[in-house]
Amino acid sequence: MLVVKKFGGTSVADKERIFNVAKRCMKSYQAGDDVVVVLSAMGKMTDVLIDQAKDINPNPSKRELDMLLTTGEQTSVALMAMALHSLGVPAISLNAFQVAMHTTSNCGNARIKRIDSERIRHELDQRKIVIITGFQGVNKYDDYTTLGRGGSDTTAVALAAALHADSCEIYTDVDGIYTADPRLVKKARKMKEITYDEMLDLATLGAGVLHNRSVEMAKKYNVPLVVRSSLTDAEGTVVKEDVKVERMLVSGVAADKNATRISVVGLEDRPGVAFRLFDALAKANINVDMILQSIGREGKKDISFTIPEDVADEALNVIEKNMERLKAEKVDCKRNVAKVSVVGAGMMSNPGVAAKMFECLYNSNININMISTSEIRVTVLIDEKEVEKAINAVHEAFGLED
Ligand code: ASP
Ligand code: MG
Repeated sequence: MLVVKKFGGTSVADKERIFNVAKRCMKSYQAGDDVVVVLSAMGKMTDVLIDQAKDINPNPSKRELDMLLTTGEQTSVALMAMALHSLGVPAISLNAFQVAMHTTSNCGNARIKRIDSERIRHELDQRKIVIITGFQGVNKYDDYTTLGRGGSDTTAVALAAALHADSCEIYTDVDGIYTADPRLVKKARKMKEITYDEMLDLATLGAGVLHNRSVEMAKKYNVPLVVRSSLTDAEGTVVKEDVKVERMLVSGVAADKNATRISVVGLEDRPGVAFRLFDALAKANINVDMILQSIGREGKKDISFTIPEDVADEALNVIEKNMERLKAEKVDCKRNVAKVSVVGAGMMSNPGVAAKMFECLYNSNININMISTSEIRVTVLIDEKEVEKAINAVHEAFGLED
């Protein structure tokens, strides 16, 4: 069996944790598996490196930043190889260059294009555990790139696809995917299985366990993922195309506090206005999420939308600059809002999920600012301070508790 095992930063944060991971890998190796290990940088190393860079230059070149960040993963794979050696297990670490892991050229947010597998195969044939740097790649100019924060999950899935691995295990500091964040919802339950589509929505909407691009890639190449704890032997959650157990109406609830609502008030009610607004934002590389347009009245209309909090100032800037062209009366920005979403493949064939969610929020006296839906998701925008109450109430209303 060929297994890809990915361990996040907390799982390799110090010497003790590194040996804990080394021993887990050794066990699988001794059982006869071909073992490929993907690691993140130790603990909060990536944050530390970013701070260091910004201390020297508040606006570091993306190329140099990636040059720096890739050292984080390089440190953890080398130390892991040394740990395995001291346990008497043959192992070798490889960085993105040595593999090679080819990506698009954009530093800081590159996408994996192709992985050469010969070197890895060769090392596995020598019965070595192969330990590979997560998060990094090499572009066509032979420069280092990184895949965006949390990108090691994507490295692991890409490797599992390229090597036709029998399993891809994502080890983390929680023991699986829960029906809601267990830190916010005490009665959250660990799921046995979840579909790629549901996981993709949960990952995008704030579940924070898997990098959403890793789920996208797992779906595309049909790589079954297992999310489990690096510290216990608990079973974990399987992410795959179709789940066997009878579908619940809703599988999980997610909350995302990183949202801001911007309303552009008093726009002219004629063709091209929405285009002009969102085109200006798109050109500034700002990703817009929920969009709501009011009904026109006396030739005027309002458009509201949400964006991640960290780009709010930038978005406001873009709009201020375009006020003349947009002929808007004013702009309003509300930062203390949050998105709460219910996700479930079961709602595709069952009406009433939205109504049930709204009823539950009404019973909890929570006001809804905005609503958006997809085939398998209902999202509402509410006041940030109501998130915990909302997510617990919704979790209970859909019978998700233990
Ligand atoms: N070390 C990188 C980060 O902190 C990548 C990862 O952990 O997946 O974002
Ligand atoms: Mg992560």
